[in-house]
Amino acid sequence: MAEIIRNSFSWSFSQAKDFSACPRRYYWQRYGSWGGWEDMAPKGVKAAYRLKQMKNRFALSGIAVDLAVKAAIQSVSSGKETTLEEALDLAVTYLRRAWIEHMEGRWQMNPKRYTCIKEIYYGEFSPEDAEARMNWAAGIKEKVGLCLENFYGMVLPKIRQYLAKGSLVAFSETDFFEKESFTLGGIKIYAAPDTVIQFDDKLVILDWKTGRPRQFYAHQMETYGLWAQCRHEVPADNIELELVYLPDGSVQKVEYNEEVARQTFSYIRETVDDISDKLRDRDIAKNEPLNIECFGRTDKLEVCAHCNFMELCDRRFALQMGKE
Ligand code: SF4
Repeated sequence: MAEIIRNSFSWSFSQAKDFSACPRRYYWQRYGSWGGWEDMAPKGVKAAYRLKQMKNRFALSGIAVDLAVKAAIQSVSSGKETTLEEALDLAVTYLRRAWIEHMEGRWQMNPKRYTCIKEIYYGEFSPEDAEARMNWAAGIKEKVGLCLENFYGMVLPKIRQYLAKGSLVAFSETDFFEKESFTLGGIKIYAAPDTVIQFDDKLVILDWKTGRPRQFYAHQMETYGLWAQCRHEVPADNIELELVYLPDGSVQKVEYNEEVARQTFSYIRETVDDISDKLRDRDIAKNEPLNIECFGRTDKLEVCAHCNFMELCDRRFALQMGKE
C-alpha cells in the first residue's frame, strides 16, 4: 500500500515571505498544490503543483551559481580545487539542460524532475524569436559569470582561510540538508544556510545571494543563527553571520546575540499566529486550511507579475500591466 504523506505545518523564512506578499500564494504553495504529484490528483491540484515547480530567470541563475559554488567549496575541502572556467562550464551546462528540458516539454508529465521556464510558459518572450531568446539567455549568463568571478576572486580565498583553521560543519549539498529543520516552541522550522564552518569556538555561517541587497536577507540569516543555537548548541555570541552578495562581492556581517535570537523567535511566532487565522480551529497540529477565499489575493500587480500562479488566479494580465 502506498505511503500517505501528511501535510504537516512548518515554518520557513520563504514561506513567511510568501504569506506576507500574498496569502493566496501561500495557499497555492502549501495547500492547493499538495498531492499534485499523484496520478489521480484533481486537475487544479496538479496544475498548482506543476506551476509551483516552474523556474524564472532569477531562480535559474541562482541554481546555476549555487551548483558551481558548491562544487568549488567541495573541491577546496578535498584539496583538489576546480578553476573558474570549470565552474562556469558547470553552470552553463545546467542552464543549457534547463532550456532543452523546457523545449522538450517533459515537465508536463514530471514537473518536479524537468524544468519549465516561467518566461516562456507565460509568453514573456517567444523561443522562436532569436533576438529575444538571445537577450534573455545573455542576461542570465552575464549575471552567472559575474557572480562566479566574484565568488572566485573575493569569497573563495576567505573560505580557504576559514577551512585552514577549521572544518566544514554543514553544507547544503545533500537532500538531507535541504530538509534541515529544528523544532522550537512546538513549531517545526526549516533553515538551510549555504555553508557553515567551525573554527576555535566559533560557528561561521555564510550565505550567498545572486540578487541585490535586501533587508529581509539579514532577517533570514538570523533564523540561521537560531538554527545553529538549536541544532549545534552554540552560544549566540559565538555565532557569526555573513551575507555575501555575489553580483558585487560585498559582504554584510549580520549581528547576532541573545536579544536578536529573542526577536527572531518572536517574529516566527507572530507569523505563525497570522497564518493560524486561516486554519481550521487555528490549529497548526491539524493544519487544515479554511476555504481558499480566506487566503486573500494581493492587489499589487507587480507581485503577481513575478508569481508562478498567475494562471490559477486569472492574473496573466499583470504581466502586461507590469511593463507599463
Ligand atoms: S498571481 Fe497574484 S494574487 Fe495570485 S497567488 Fe500570485 S501574487 Fe497572489
